[in-house]
Amino acid sequence: MKKTALTLSISLLCFTPIITQAENTTSQTVINQQPQVAGYYQHQVGNTQITTLLDGTNFMSPTLFKDIPTEQVQEILKKYHVDQAKGVQTSVNAFLVNTGNKLVLVDSGTADCFGAHLGSVMKNLKASGYQPEQVNTILLTHLHPDHSCGVSKNGVANYPNATIYVSENEADYWLNPKQLQKIPKDQQAKYTGTVPKIKAALAPYQTKKQFKTFKLGDTIDGFEVISTQGHTPGHFSYKLKTSDEDVIFIGDIVHSHTVQFDRPETAIDYDIDPKAAVQTRLKQFADYAKHGQTIAAPHLPFPGIGHIYSADEKSYQWIPVHFKD
Ligand SMILES: [Zn+2]
Repeated sequence: MKKTALTLSISLLCFTPIITQAENTTSQTVINQQPQVAGYYQHQVGNTQITTLLDGTNFMSPTLFKDIPTEQVQEILKKYHVDQAKGVQTSVNAFLVNTGNKLVLVDSGTADCFGAHLGSVMKNLKASGYQPEQVNTILLTHLHPDHSCGVSKNGVANYPNATIYVSENEADYWLNPKQLQKIPKDQQAKYTGTVPKIKAALAPYQTKKQFKTFKLGDTIDGFEVISTQGHTPGHFSYKLKTSDEDVIFIGDIVHSHTVQFDRPETAIDYDIDPKAAVQTRLKQFADYAKHGQTIAAPHLPFPGIGHIYSADEKSYQWIPVHFKD
C-alpha cells in the first residue's frame, strides 16, 4: 500500500509541470462568489420584536471627525481593524418594532435621496415578513434625509396607514421658512439643499393630516421621548419599556463604533451643534453604560443592536448582540 501511495505522489509531481497554461485554465472550475444576504435581523426583547432593516452601507472620510488629531483617528481605526479602502464604513439602519398591538417604524432610511447603494429599507421590510400597510406609526429621531426620505417615493406615502411623529423643534427648524435667516451664512447652502428632500418626503403625510409633532414629556404608542439635541436642534431618542430590558432608539447621537466610543468627546462634521452633540453623547452613554439598556442605533454596524460598556466611565465599548435563531 505504501509503495502505491508513493508511486502515485511521484507521478503527480512529474505530471503537473507538463500541463500547459491553456489546459490548466480550461480544466479549472471557477466557483462564483455569492452576494451578501443580510438585510433584516429579528431581535426579541421580552414581549417585543425588533426588526432591524438595513438601508445599506456608506463610506465616510476619517477627516469628518472633529477636534482630534488625524494620527489619533488613525491609531484608533487601526486598533479596531477598520478597513479604510473606501473610507470608514457606516451602516444605515431603520427599526421596525412589533409591540404586540402596534407596528412602529423608527427612522426610515434614505429611499433614493443618496443613490443606489442605499435605499433598501422597503425591500428588506417586505422580505422580513411584514407589509408597509401594517405600519401604524413612524417615529423620526430627526429629519436628516437618511432618516426621513424613506417614508415616501415620488410624492406617494410608502406607509399609507401610518402617522409620522417628529419633535416640535425639529419640524420648526426644517419646515419653518423663517429659519433660514437664523442660520449662519456658511451653513445656508447645506440647509437649503437639504430642506426640499425633507419637504418632499413628508408632503403626502401632511396632506392627509398624518404628520404630528410632539414635545418633551409626551408618550407615543408607549414610546417615551428623550431630548438628545445637538446633532440637530430637535433631535430626540425614544425609549420603549418591554417586559424585559428597556430599549433606547438612540438616533444619531453616535456615528462610529470606534472613534466615538474610544473618544466620545469627538464630534463629527454632520453635527449641527457639535458641542451640544458631544454633551448629549457623554450624558447618554454614561446612563446606558450604568443601566444596561438595549440600544438600537441607525449608524452602528448592522444590525445596530447591542449594549454600551465602560470600564473607566471615560471611554466606551460597543457590545453587539449575538445571533440568535
Ligand atoms: Zn443619520
